[in-house]
Amino acid sequence: MARLDPHSYTESSQPLAKHVALTLYFDFAARTIHGSALLTLPAAHTGPLLLDTRSLLIHSVLDPHTTGPIPFSFPSDPTPDPVLGQPLCLSLSAQSAALVVFSTSPSSSALQWLSPAQTASKAQPFVYTQCQSIHARSLFPCQDTPAARLVFSARLNLPHPLTAVMAAARAAAPRDPVPGEAGSACPDALWCAAGRSVEEFIMDRPIPPYLFAFAAGDIAARDVGLRTRVHAEGGAALLDAAAREFAGAEEMIRAGEALFGPYEWGRFDLLVLPPSFPYGGMENPMMVFLTPTVIKGDASGAQVVAHELAHSWTGNLITNKTNEHFWLNEGFTTYAERRIVEVVQGEEMAALNMGIGWRGLNDEMDRFKDNMEFTKLKPNLEGIDPDEIYSQVPYEKGFQFLWRIERQVGRPTFDVFLKKYIAKFKFQSIDTETFLEFLKANLPGIENQIDLKQWVEGTGIPPDAMEPLSSIYSKIVSLSNEFKLGNIPKKQEVANWSGQEWELYIENLPKSVEPSQIAALDAHYRLSESRDYEVKVAFLQLAISSGCKEYFGEVERTLKQVGRMKYLRPLYTALVQGNAEEAKLSARRIFAEARDTYHPIAQGVVESILAKHS
Ligand SMILES: [Zn+2]
Repeated sequence: MARLDPHSYTESSQPLAKHVALTLYFDFAARTIHGSALLTLPAAHTGPLLLDTRSLLIHSVLDPHTTGPIPFSFPSDPTPDPVLGQPLCLSLSAQSAALVVFSTSPSSSALQWLSPAQTASKAQPFVYTQCQSIHARSLFPCQDTPAARLVFSARLNLPHPLTAVMAAARAAAPRDPVPGEAGSACPDALWCAAGRSVEEFIMDRPIPPYLFAFAAGDIAARDVGLRTRVHAEGGAALLDAAAREFAGAEEMIRAGEALFGPYEWGRFDLLVLPPSFPYGGMENPMMVFLTPTVIKGDASGAQVVAHELAHSWTGNLITNKTNEHFWLNEGFTTYAERRIVEVVQGEEMAALNMGIGWRGLNDEMDRFKDNMEFTKLKPNLEGIDPDEIYSQVPYEKGFQFLWRIERQVGRPTFDVFLKKYIAKFKFQSIDTETFLEFLKANLPGIENQIDLKQWVEGTGIPPDAMEPLSSIYSKIVSLSNEFKLGNIPKKQEVANWSGQEWELYIENLPKSVEPSQIAALDAHYRLSESRDYEVKVAFLQLAISSGCKEYFGEVERTLKQVGRMKYLRPLYTALVQGNAEEAKLSARRIFAEARDTYHPIAQGVVESILAKHS
């Protein structure tokens, strides 16, 4: 017996389910889903079959053919593993399918249930999923490892007037429920009650479980391109702004296809979520999920979309086998994102994007200076919660590694290699070793030119990594250096700056500066009030680290407005890591007040930041 993945109970000796049919009844009042998952194996199996679960209530397991019970147990009962959850062991005898009947818990880590007051429209409740990295198991029992790919169908039962969207194709228009179709998932009296409707979806391309996604609420939509429709709750004004922000989606898809081969997922729709969404974007196939903070009317919002689009090839088509190989998803996607940005926004914007990444990578080296394992491209994550050590390392060190190879072999050769790599491994889950073998086979001699072992297994930033250089990047860095001498950039020097220029400028400043300098900078450019959260948060982080108490109010407002972890992490960390007792106390008070508005994943991350500095 050997586990396939340090983050899953899936056993390598047991078959992997190829298909799951889900029936889900949404009870918004109880923040619960009553459901069934019909898992189908490639062939009949006798013996144990381990599935991952977290905070799921398992009611029964049935043989769908005989409707007889299948024995099951919880081997780790009664103490679930804090990272992995609880394995569910089915005992199969010559069976190729199992129907697991379950209910989710209100604390399911994949689900955020929002009351009407927590939505933009204030009229209807809302629920959405975030399954990466290991949260699908809190939604339905499954082999929750990216090594396991499966196709699915889903039948959702919702109350009027809510509608659902899924990272999947719609199989039929919303319709009335039909008696009997819920099977064991829920009684007909509930399923067919007045004011309920059923929506059906299908995903016929094999995906890893972390890409399973839906949202349900008062959702409206608008077409923005041939293959792209933007969805949002929050009314016409938000949809208008989103449609403007993402108008370039089709141009980006075409740029991606020219670079990486055909777009394999049919549609590329977008869903703008309420402000509590914990990430910038999530690359759910056919329907990318986005934070509303990317809608700000400048180029950087499009860059988040470019990143999620790039995942259509790297991450969704070729998937990391386990989270220890996460750089195969994110390093490739960061590289691919910047290639798309270069085509649609030009070399300068791509260089700025790379510069911000380089700064971020260097900051992570400081964050992990006492635990350099997490600065490796391929770290050992046994017993480690992937959410807790989430960092820029797989993104930016991965990007640097691929850029290093590009510089070695030249762009035309590397482009041919990339297309070949994607065509070869599409719809597969692979590890770093598989990539390295393919690299050495297709770029002969590369191992003599680049120290591949140091890049993959070494800690820190390899000496042949490169700070990206461009005129705009150098200009901003030199202005940041000027600030250290007491000079604030002049109006004409920043006249054309958008959010990204400011972000790069602030991130290149020392981590702590004279409070009077902070005040002077803000007096000139009102960075603390920027509507661009990247700029505002970078500034507020610097202000807190520099001991400027007058910004506590703005920090509190920000922490209560958005739940994106990119902002929560630095702001809470800045508050608690210094010696100021007052800052620590306000961090705890703000979290206590804002906690319910955060997604469960973000709640866990903030809790761990506060615990580390208690
Ligand atoms: Zn990504």
